[in-house]
Amino acid sequence: MRVDSVVGDPAVPEQSAPKPSWSDLFREVAGTDVCAGCGACVVACPRKVLAYASGETRPYQTDEASGPDGCRFGDAGCDACTRVCSRFRPDPESLELHRFGRTRRPDEALGNELDRRVLRAVASAGQDGGLVTAALAWAMRTGRIDGAIVTRPDPDRPWHNLPVIVTEPDEVLSSAGSRYTYSRSLLMLHEAAPTMRLAFVGLPCQVAGLVKGQVSGLKRFRPVVLSIALMCSETFEETAFLHDLLEVRFGLDLTRVTRVNVKGKLLVSTDQDLSHIAAGRVAGSAARVADGNVVEIPLREVRPTVRAQCGSCTDFSGELADLSAGGVGLDGWTMAVVRTPAAAEWVEAMLEDEVLEQRPPGELPEATALLERLAAKQRARGHRP
Ligand SMILES: Cc1cc2nc3c(=O)[nH]c(=O)nc-3n(C[C@H](O)[C@H](O)[C@H](O)COP(=O)(O)OP(=O)(O)OC[C@H]3O[C@@H](n4cnc5c(N)ncnc54)[C@H](O)[C@@H]3O)c2cc1C
Ligand code: SF4
Ligand code: SF4
Repeated sequence: MRVDSVVGDPAVPEQSAPKPSWSDLFREVAGTDVCAGCGACVVACPRKVLAYASGETRPYQTDEASGPDGCRFGDAGCDACTRVCSRFRPDPESLELHRFGRTRRPDEALGNELDRRVLRAVASAGQDGGLVTAALAWAMRTGRIDGAIVTRPDPDRPWHNLPVIVTEPDEVLSSAGSRYTYSRSLLMLHEAAPTMRLAFVGLPCQVAGLVKGQVSGLKRFRPVVLSIALMCSETFEETAFLHDLLEVRFGLDLTRVTRVNVKGKLLVSTDQDLSHIAAGRVAGSAARVADGNVVEIPLREVRPTVRAQCGSCTDFSGELADLSAGGVGLDGWTMAVVRTPAAAEWVEAMLEDEVLEQRPPGELPEATALLERLAAKQRARGHRP
């Protein structure tokens, strides 16, 4: 037999590889710690057989006729969930090319970058410089967006996250500040009207799912016109962190906690009496009470509450977002990485409207060095979206 009659002969129809579907996604990502829990696959599923409930860490199949690791619609040709998962058979260069029109240069430590700014809101407060909150409220006021997908504290469960779509500038204020457990923010795309123009605020893994969904052309992802990624090295398991660690181990009343921050240590500000911690009565803990009634807990004591999925995440700075925002050791300022012309236009116009003020990044070499160090450290973990 002539070999060329089989290989590459147009007369012989090629066997096309079967399309991947949920069973492949489950085996390779969703059923493993590679899954970020971003929820993009749940949003993409046209049959609504995937779900991701509060208290869960990953999506799951709800169709009883299919079983947890199968999907009868996938067997019939549906591949939507696999098309939007940034961790399924990743091809970062092609994703970047679609997203930014180019791949990153070797000297771009944080991925595609147009500009880097150190910014803070002139009027509103936030976790760091309040950039994110100020930007969303301003963008609504100036008609750039109709609303935003944000995460606010759940009024019924202190320090738990409640993802919402806000449509009024005043509503945005209720989402200011960081809560360090996972929010199912992408699922809010189910609630977005197709004609809305939304901003999305989320963690790098969520923005990666969003962008992959947009690049795939699925219409559920279309309402988002600008994405803001919060820089992130890890999040904590809800029960292990809020209940087991803060409430039970450290005896903290979550209704009295006013702020949680991570700056080399976990810093929990509260107005409750902390004499039990100051007197060293938390067995085996090196936590201390600092000025301002802040409990300082060494990160090694918090590490056991980190979500397993974060261990394989390489994206500290939100490399696929329009705009990335982080605290990186700054006090009262937000480090912003501007990646797209849309985000650059927002930042310039906000400075012009005196909604933001800025410091020359050159004035803050330590923050820039820390940003690049954290990004490099995280990239060494393994997976890249
Ligand atoms: C889980 C988590 C981990 C982080 N880790 C780091 C880090 O390691 N290093 C670093 O430099 N910066 C980190 N950040 C970012 C930092 O805490 C600030 O969010 C960022 O600097 C923007 O500050 P800001 O004052 O401009 O934001 P704000 O104006 O205070 O706005 C905060 C926005 O964050 C959103 N938000 C709050 N909590 C969550 C959540 N759990 N999930 C999704 N969205 C949320 C709200 O919707 C709000 O829109 C982290 C943030 C989070 C939420
Ligand atoms: S799309 Fe997100 S939630 Fe779904 S399998 Fe992939 S990483 Fe997990
Ligand atoms: S470390 Fe990565 S996977 Fe974990 S929450 Fe942050 S962005 Fe998502």
